Amino acid sequence: KVYHDSDADLSIIQNKRVTFVGFGNQGSAQAQNLRDSGVKNITIGNRDDDYKPKAEAAGFTVKSISEAVKDAEVIFLLIPDEVQHEVWKEQIKENVADNATLVVASGYAYAFDLLELPANMSVVMAAPRMIGPGVRDRYVAKEPYPCFVSVEKDPSDNALPVVLSIARAIGATLGGAVESSCREEAGIDLFAEQALWPAINTCFREAFNTLKAAGFSDEAILHDMYLSKEPAEVFDRAATVGFFRQLKFHSPTSQFGQLRGTKNNDGTALRAKFEKVLHEDILSGEFAKFWSGAFTSGSSDLEQLWKESEDEPISQAEKRIGLHD
Ligand code: NDP
Repeated sequence: KVYHDSDADLSIIQNKRVTFVGFGNQGSAQAQNLRDSGVKNITIGNRDDDYKPKAEAAGFTVKSISEAVKDAEVIFLLIPDEVQHEVWKEQIKENVADNATLVVASGYAYAFDLLELPANMSVVMAAPRMIGPGVRDRYVAKEPYPCFVSVEKDPSDNALPVVLSIARAIGATLGGAVESSCREEAGIDLFAEQALWPAINTCFREAFNTLKAAGFSDEAILHDMYLSKEPAEVFDRAATVGFFRQLKFHSPTSQFGQLRGTKNNDGTALRAKFEKVLHEDILSGEFAKFWSGAFTSGSSDLEQLWKESEDEPISQAEKRIGLHD
Protein backbone atom coordinates (compact mmCIF):
# COMPACT_ATOMS: atom_id res chain seq x y z
CA LYS A 1 0.00 0.00 0.00
CA VAL A 2 1.17 3.52 -0.80
CA TYR A 3 0.08 6.56 1.25
CA HIS A 4 -0.17 10.05 -0.21
CA ASP A 5 -0.55 13.57 1.23
CA SER A 6 -4.34 13.20 1.02
CA ASP A 7 -4.20 10.20 3.43
CA ALA A 8 -2.45 12.25 6.11
CA ASP A 9 -3.78 14.81 8.60
CA LEU A 10 -0.92 17.22 9.35
CA SER A 11 -2.68 18.69 12.40
CA ILE A 12 -2.10 15.50 14.42
CA ILE A 13 1.67 15.99 14.67
CA GLN A 14 1.37 19.80 14.71
CA ASN A 15 -0.33 19.53 18.09
CA LYS A 16 2.12 17.15 19.76
CA ARG A 17 5.13 17.74 21.98
CA VAL A 18 7.93 16.27 19.89
CA THR A 19 11.48 15.34 20.89
CA PHE A 20 14.31 14.39 18.56
CA VAL A 21 16.99 12.21 20.10
CA GLY A 22 19.94 13.01 17.82
CA PHE A 23 20.59 15.98 15.54
CA GLY A 24 22.77 14.29 12.94
CA ASN A 25 21.99 13.53 9.29
CA GLN A 26 18.37 12.51 9.73
CA GLY A 27 17.67 14.35 13.01
CA SER A 28 18.60 17.81 11.73
CA ALA A 29 16.76 17.31 8.43
CA GLN A 30 13.57 15.87 9.91
CA ALA A 31 13.40 18.39 12.80
CA GLN A 32 13.63 21.30 10.36
CA ASN A 33 11.04 19.74 8.04
CA LEU A 34 8.66 19.23 10.96
CA ARG A 35 9.11 22.84 12.10
CA ASP A 36 8.44 24.12 8.58
CA SER A 37 5.33 21.91 8.52
CA GLY A 38 3.95 23.83 11.50
CA VAL A 39 5.04 21.65 14.44
CA LYS A 40 5.73 24.22 17.17
CA ASN A 41 6.81 22.22 20.17
CA ILE A 42 10.12 20.58 19.22
CA THR A 43 12.96 19.76 21.62
CA ILE A 44 16.29 18.27 20.66
CA GLY A 45 17.96 15.75 22.95
CA ASN A 46 21.70 15.65 22.38
CA ARG A 47 24.96 15.20 24.20
CA ASP A 48 26.85 18.38 25.01
CA ASP A 49 29.19 18.31 21.99
CA ASP A 50 29.50 19.39 18.36
CA TYR A 51 25.88 18.83 17.34
CA LYS A 52 24.49 20.79 20.30
CA PRO A 53 25.56 24.28 19.12
CA LYS A 54 24.43 23.27 15.61
CA ALA A 55 20.93 22.53 16.91
CA GLU A 56 20.87 25.75 18.96
CA ALA A 57 22.06 27.78 15.99
CA ALA A 58 19.19 26.29 13.98
CA GLY A 59 16.86 27.77 16.60
CA PHE A 60 15.93 24.65 18.55
CA THR A 61 15.74 24.13 22.32
CA VAL A 62 18.41 21.58 23.25
CA LYS A 63 18.44 19.49 26.42
CA SER A 64 20.22 16.37 27.58
CA ILE A 65 18.67 13.22 26.15
CA SER A 66 17.22 12.11 29.50
CA GLU A 67 15.63 15.56 30.08
CA ALA A 68 14.40 16.00 26.51
CA VAL A 69 12.36 12.80 26.44
CA LYS A 70 10.58 13.45 29.76
CA ASP A 71 7.34 15.09 28.71
CA ALA A 72 7.49 14.20 25.00
CA GLU A 73 4.42 12.72 23.35
CA VAL A 74 6.38 11.72 20.25
CA ILE A 75 10.06 10.69 20.33
CA PHE A 76 12.15 10.38 17.17
CA LEU A 77 15.10 8.07 17.83
CA LEU A 78 17.60 9.36 15.27
CA ILE A 79 20.99 8.23 16.50
CA PRO A 80 23.09 5.49 14.83
CA ASP A 81 21.49 2.04 14.97
CA GLU A 82 24.38 0.42 16.80
CA VAL A 83 24.15 2.75 19.82
CA GLN A 84 20.35 2.86 20.14
CA HIS A 85 20.24 -0.15 22.48
CA GLU A 86 22.62 1.38 25.01
CA VAL A 87 21.34 4.96 24.84
CA TRP A 88 17.77 3.71 25.25
CA LYS A 89 18.69 1.60 28.26
CA GLU A 90 20.86 4.22 29.98
CA GLN A 91 19.13 7.52 29.20
CA ILE A 92 15.65 7.06 27.79
CA LYS A 93 13.86 4.04 29.21
CA GLU A 94 13.35 5.38 32.75
CA ASN A 95 12.36 8.86 31.56
CA VAL A 96 9.75 8.36 28.84
CA ALA A 97 5.99 8.65 29.31
CA ASP A 98 4.38 5.23 29.26
CA ASN A 99 1.99 6.20 26.45
CA ALA A 100 4.41 8.13 24.21
CA THR A 101 4.92 7.24 20.54
CA LEU A 102 8.38 6.15 19.43
CA VAL A 103 9.38 6.92 15.84
CA VAL A 104 12.30 5.06 14.25
CA ALA A 105 13.89 5.76 10.86
CA SER A 106 15.24 2.23 10.46
CA GLY A 107 13.80 -1.07 11.56
CA TYR A 108 16.95 -2.43 13.20
CA ALA A 109 16.49 -1.81 16.93
CA TYR A 110 12.79 -2.67 17.06
CA ALA A 111 12.95 -5.66 14.71
CA PHE A 112 15.70 -7.29 16.74
CA ASP A 113 14.19 -6.51 20.11
CA LEU A 114 16.96 -4.22 21.32
CA LEU A 115 14.70 -1.71 23.07
CA GLU A 116 12.91 -2.45 26.32
CA LEU A 117 9.60 -0.68 25.78
CA PRO A 118 6.91 0.48 28.20
CA ALA A 119 3.68 -1.51 27.81
CA ASN A 120 1.61 1.38 26.48
CA MET A 121 4.18 2.87 24.13
CA SER A 122 3.30 2.95 20.42
CA VAL A 123 6.06 2.31 17.90
CA VAL A 124 6.00 3.50 14.29
CA MET A 125 8.57 3.68 11.52
CA ALA A 126 9.10 6.51 9.02
CA ALA A 127 12.24 5.43 7.18
CA PRO A 128 13.37 7.70 4.34
CA ARG A 129 15.25 5.87 1.57
CA MET A 130 17.34 9.00 1.33
CA ILE A 131 20.36 10.55 3.08
CA GLY A 132 19.56 13.29 5.61
CA PRO A 133 20.59 16.30 3.49
CA GLY A 134 18.44 14.87 0.67
CA VAL A 135 15.43 14.69 3.02
CA ARG A 136 15.87 18.38 3.80
CA ASP A 137 16.70 19.59 0.27
CA ARG A 138 13.78 17.74 -1.30
CA TYR A 139 11.36 19.06 1.31
CA VAL A 140 12.50 22.64 0.64
CA ALA A 141 12.31 22.11 -3.15
CA LYS A 142 8.91 20.36 -2.78
CA GLU A 143 10.31 17.28 -4.50
CA PRO A 144 9.39 13.69 -3.57
CA TYR A 145 11.67 11.03 -2.11
CA PRO A 146 10.94 7.38 -1.27
CA CYS A 147 10.09 6.40 2.30
CA PHE A 148 8.86 3.29 4.15
CA VAL A 149 6.22 3.63 6.86
CA SER A 150 4.82 1.13 9.33
CA VAL A 151 2.94 0.69 12.56
CA GLU A 152 4.75 -1.81 14.79
CA LYS A 153 3.12 -1.57 18.20
CA ASP A 154 -0.23 0.07 18.67
CA PRO A 155 -1.79 -0.33 22.11
CA SER A 156 -3.96 2.79 21.67
CA ASP A 157 -5.14 1.71 18.23
CA ASN A 158 -4.47 5.09 16.59
CA ALA A 159 -0.81 4.94 15.53
CA LEU A 160 -1.50 4.84 11.77
CA PRO A 161 -2.88 8.41 11.52
CA VAL A 162 0.05 9.55 13.70
CA VAL A 163 2.74 8.01 11.48
CA LEU A 164 1.03 9.27 8.32
CA SER A 165 0.91 12.76 9.81
CA ILE A 166 4.63 12.48 10.62
CA ALA A 167 5.41 11.17 7.14
CA ARG A 168 3.61 14.11 5.59
CA ALA A 169 5.39 16.58 7.89
CA ILE A 170 8.82 15.31 6.80
CA GLY A 171 7.76 15.44 3.14
CA ALA A 172 7.58 11.68 2.67
CA THR A 173 3.99 11.36 1.45
CA LEU A 174 4.53 13.82 -1.40
CA GLY A 175 5.60 11.05 -3.76
CA GLY A 176 3.87 8.25 -1.83
CA ALA A 177 5.09 6.52 1.36
CA VAL A 178 5.27 2.74 1.01
CA GLU A 179 3.84 0.48 3.73
CA SER A 180 6.54 -1.84 5.07
CA SER A 181 7.67 -3.11 8.46
CA CYS A 182 10.73 -2.89 10.71
CA ARG A 183 11.51 -6.55 10.02
CA GLU A 184 11.29 -6.08 6.26
CA GLU A 185 13.25 -2.81 6.23
CA ALA A 186 16.03 -4.11 8.48
CA GLY A 187 16.05 -7.54 6.83
CA ILE A 188 16.51 -6.16 3.31
CA ASP A 189 19.03 -3.55 4.42
CA LEU A 190 21.21 -6.00 6.34
CA PHE A 191 20.88 -8.60 3.57
CA ALA A 192 22.22 -6.08 1.06
CA GLU A 193 25.09 -5.24 3.41
CA GLN A 194 25.98 -8.78 4.45
CA ALA A 195 25.09 -10.94 1.46
CA LEU A 196 24.49 -9.05 -1.79
CA TRP A 197 27.34 -6.50 -1.63
CA PRO A 198 29.90 -8.92 -0.20
CA ALA A 199 29.10 -11.20 -3.18
CA ILE A 200 29.51 -8.29 -5.61
CA ASN A 201 32.69 -7.13 -3.86
CA THR A 202 34.08 -10.69 -4.06
CA CYS A 203 33.34 -10.74 -7.81
CA PHE A 204 35.28 -7.54 -8.31
CA ARG A 205 38.16 -8.73 -6.11
CA GLU A 206 38.49 -12.05 -7.91
CA ALA A 207 37.99 -10.47 -11.34
CA PHE A 208 40.92 -8.20 -10.58
CA ASN A 209 43.04 -11.11 -9.31
CA THR A 210 42.25 -13.20 -12.42
CA LEU A 211 43.08 -10.42 -14.88
CA LYS A 212 46.20 -9.40 -12.96
CA ALA A 213 47.44 -13.03 -12.97
CA ALA A 214 47.04 -12.98 -16.78
CA GLY A 215 49.55 -10.14 -16.89
CA PHE A 216 47.17 -7.25 -17.63
CA SER A 217 48.05 -3.83 -16.22
CA ASP A 218 46.58 -2.27 -13.08
CA GLU A 219 45.54 0.84 -15.02
CA ALA A 220 43.76 -1.05 -17.77
CA ILE A 221 41.96 -3.46 -15.42
CA LEU A 222 40.78 -0.81 -12.98
CA HIS A 223 39.68 1.60 -15.68
CA ASP A 224 37.65 -1.11 -17.36
CA MET A 225 36.17 -2.36 -14.09
CA TYR A 226 35.09 0.89 -12.43
CA LEU A 227 37.35 3.93 -12.79
CA SER A 228 35.43 4.79 -15.95
CA LYS A 229 32.28 5.01 -13.76
CA GLU A 230 30.54 2.70 -16.22
CA PRO A 231 29.04 0.60 -13.37
CA ALA A 232 27.43 3.80 -12.05
CA GLU A 233 25.89 4.40 -15.50
CA VAL A 234 24.68 0.80 -15.64
CA PHE A 235 22.95 1.01 -12.24
CA ASP A 236 21.49 4.38 -13.16
CA ARG A 237 19.91 2.82 -16.27
CA ALA A 238 18.83 -0.26 -14.28
CA ALA A 239 16.86 2.04 -11.98
CA THR A 240 15.07 3.72 -14.87
CA VAL A 241 14.50 1.02 -17.52
CA GLY A 242 15.11 -2.28 -15.69
CA PHE A 243 17.90 -4.50 -14.45
CA PHE A 244 18.31 -6.69 -17.56
CA ARG A 245 16.71 -4.29 -20.02
CA GLN A 246 19.52 -1.74 -19.57
CA LEU A 247 21.61 -4.26 -21.55
CA LYS A 248 19.91 -2.87 -24.65
CA PHE A 249 22.34 0.07 -24.33
CA HIS A 250 25.34 -2.31 -24.67
CA SER A 251 26.81 -3.78 -27.87
CA PRO A 252 25.34 -7.06 -29.21
CA THR A 253 28.59 -8.82 -28.21
CA SER A 254 28.20 -7.52 -24.64
CA GLN A 255 24.49 -8.39 -24.56
CA PHE A 256 25.19 -11.93 -25.73
CA GLY A 257 28.11 -12.40 -23.32
CA GLN A 258 26.21 -11.11 -20.33
CA LEU A 259 22.93 -12.92 -20.97
CA ARG A 260 24.55 -16.24 -21.81
CA GLY A 261 27.11 -15.97 -18.98
CA THR A 262 24.42 -15.16 -16.42
CA LYS A 263 22.16 -17.96 -17.64
CA ASN A 264 24.99 -20.50 -17.44
CA ASN A 265 26.12 -19.48 -13.96
CA ASP A 266 24.92 -22.02 -11.46
CA GLY A 267 23.61 -19.89 -8.57
CA THR A 268 22.90 -22.83 -6.25
CA ALA A 269 25.85 -22.32 -3.91
CA LEU A 270 25.34 -18.55 -3.82
CA ARG A 271 21.63 -18.99 -3.11
CA ALA A 272 22.41 -21.40 -0.25
CA LYS A 273 24.86 -18.88 1.18
CA PHE A 274 22.29 -16.07 0.86
CA GLU A 275 19.63 -18.19 2.63
CA LYS A 276 22.04 -18.92 5.46
CA VAL A 277 23.02 -15.29 5.97
CA LEU A 278 19.41 -14.09 5.78
CA HIS A 279 17.89 -16.64 8.13
CA GLU A 280 20.67 -17.74 10.46
CA ASP A 281 22.55 -14.46 10.88
CA ILE A 282 20.08 -11.67 10.18
CA LEU A 283 16.45 -12.65 10.84
CA SER A 284 17.41 -14.80 13.83
CA GLY A 285 18.67 -11.58 15.50
CA GLU A 286 22.16 -13.10 15.96
CA PHE A 287 23.91 -10.35 14.02
CA ALA A 288 22.09 -7.55 15.89
CA LYS A 289 22.96 -9.15 19.22
CA PHE A 290 26.61 -9.49 18.21
CA TRP A 291 26.86 -5.94 16.78
CA SER A 292 25.19 -4.18 19.72
CA GLY A 293 27.37 -6.23 22.07
CA ALA A 294 30.47 -5.23 20.13
CA PHE A 295 29.60 -1.56 20.57
CA THR A 296 28.77 -1.90 24.25
CA SER A 297 32.06 -3.68 24.93
CA GLY A 298 34.02 -1.44 22.51
CA SER A 299 35.54 -4.47 20.75
CA SER A 300 34.34 -4.41 17.15
CA ASP A 301 36.66 -5.89 14.47
CA LEU A 302 35.98 -3.01 12.10
CA GLU A 303 39.44 -1.48 12.30
CA GLN A 304 41.15 -4.82 11.64
CA LEU A 305 38.86 -5.47 8.65
CA TRP A 306 39.76 -2.06 7.26
CA LYS A 307 43.45 -2.85 7.59
CA GLU A 308 43.02 -6.17 5.77
CA SER A 309 41.08 -4.51 2.95
CA GLU A 310 43.99 -2.10 2.44
CA ASP A 311 46.27 -5.13 1.89
CA GLU A 312 44.11 -6.59 -0.90
CA PRO A 313 45.88 -6.61 -4.30
CA ILE A 314 43.07 -4.45 -5.74
CA SER A 315 43.65 -1.77 -3.06
CA GLN A 316 47.41 -1.96 -3.58
CA ALA A 317 46.88 -1.47 -7.32
CA GLU A 318 44.73 1.61 -6.65
CA LYS A 319 47.49 2.95 -4.46
CA ARG A 320 50.11 2.29 -7.18
CA ILE A 321 48.16 4.26 -9.76
CA GLY A 322 47.63 7.18 -7.35
CA LEU A 323 43.95 6.75 -6.52
CA HIS A 324 44.55 7.06 -2.77
CA ASP A 325 46.59 10.30 -2.98
P1 NDP B 1 24.03 10.19 12.52
O1 NDP B 1 25.29 9.39 12.60
O2 NDP B 1 24.01 11.38 11.63
O3 NDP B 1 23.61 10.63 14.01
C1 NDP B 1 24.32 11.48 14.71
C2 NDP B 1 23.51 11.86 15.94
O4 NDP B 1 23.53 10.74 16.84
C3 NDP B 1 24.12 13.02 16.61
O5 NDP B 1 23.11 13.79 17.20
C4 NDP B 1 24.98 12.34 17.65
O6 NDP B 1 25.15 13.13 18.77
C5 NDP B 1 24.11 11.19 18.06
N1 NDP B 1 24.88 10.11 18.69
C6 NDP B 1 25.81 9.32 18.11
N2 NDP B 1 26.30 8.43 19.00
C7 NDP B 1 25.67 8.68 20.16
C8 NDP B 1 25.75 8.11 21.46
N3 NDP B 1 26.56 7.09 21.73
N4 NDP B 1 24.97 8.64 22.42
C9 NDP B 1 24.14 9.67 22.16
N5 NDP B 1 24.01 10.26 20.96
C10 NDP B 1 24.77 9.77 19.98
O7 NDP B 1 22.83 9.19 12.25
P2 NDP B 1 21.82 9.19 11.02
O8 NDP B 1 21.03 10.44 11.04
O9 NDP B 1 22.56 8.78 9.81
O10 NDP B 1 20.90 7.95 11.44
C11 NDP B 1 19.87 8.07 12.41
C12 NDP B 1 18.84 7.01 12.12
O11 NDP B 1 18.30 7.23 10.82
C13 NDP B 1 19.39 5.58 12.12
O12 NDP B 1 18.39 4.74 12.62
C14 NDP B 1 19.61 5.31 10.65
O13 NDP B 1 19.57 3.94 10.33
C15 NDP B 1 18.41 6.04 10.05
N6 NDP B 1 18.54 6.39 8.64
C16 NDP B 1 19.67 6.98 8.18
C17 NDP B 1 19.77 7.31 6.83
C18 NDP B 1 21.00 7.98 6.30
O14 NDP B 1 21.11 8.07 5.07
N7 NDP B 1 21.92 8.49 7.11
C19 NDP B 1 18.70 7.02 5.88
C20 NDP B 1 17.51 6.51 6.51
C21 NDP B 1 17.46 6.19 7.83
P3 NDP B 1 26.57 13.73 19.22
O15 NDP B 1 26.50 15.17 18.96
O16 NDP B 1 26.58 13.43 20.67
O17 NDP B 1 27.63 12.99 18.46
